[in-house]
Amino acid sequence: MIKKLVVEKVVSMPLSLQEGILYVSLENEVVGHLCPCGCANKILIRIGKAGWQYTEVKGEVTLFPSLGNWDLPCRSHYWIRKNKIRWSGDWTDEEIEEGRQSDIEKKRQYFEDLSRQKQKK
Ligand SMILES: [Zn+2]
Repeated sequence: MIKKLVVEKVVSMPLSLQEGILYVSLENEVVGHLCPCGCANKILIRIGKAGWQYTEVKGEVTLFPSLGNWDLPCRSHYWIRKNKIRWSGDWTDEEIEEGRQSDIEKKRQYFEDLSRQKQKK
């Protein structure tokens, strides 16, 4: 099992991904990696308003919420937090609460932006 990912910025996703690398395309709002359980299935997720919350601090990437690969045979479920793979169930209550708060805040802002845009019309 992979415990830590190395972030690599790309414009478009390479066709073949390497294990242990988190490919990030901010242009296309896509993040790709191979399943860290070792099954090496390709996982692509959308980031931004329509997808996962992407946070990058000093080159360390956090995605919210967790990644649950229910369509894969391995059914892996994990979080990516500061480039590290945190297998679900491996969290402290404090960390879960922290993530929850930032998600609520983001949704609130998103809907506020939407209503502001409507008012302009
Ligand atoms: Zn897997």
